[in-house]
Amino acid sequence: MAICINCEETYNDKRLALGYQTCLDCGETEAQGIIAARTHAKLCEMTPYVSGSLTQPDALFERRPGTITTAKPKEFVVGE
Ligand SMILES: [Zn+2]
Repeated sequence: MAICINCEETYNDKRLALGYQTCLDCGETEAQGIIAARTHAKLCEMTPYVSGSLTQPDALFERRPGTITTAKPKEFVVGE
């Protein structure tokens, strides 16, 4: 029987032949960690990059009710 490099328990030789040096339990735990790390990386990748008005949310509310502002509302120009 092969011996797990993690918990030193014996496991099936066929598993060692496949290239696994850990028992089924340790392999499962390791796999869960890898899955979690990959999921985290993918979610980070998919998260939209924060830019423009999102970095300055107050700019979206230049004309709040009850607030006297002298600033004119922004006029949008084509090509800006
Ligand atoms: Zn183990």
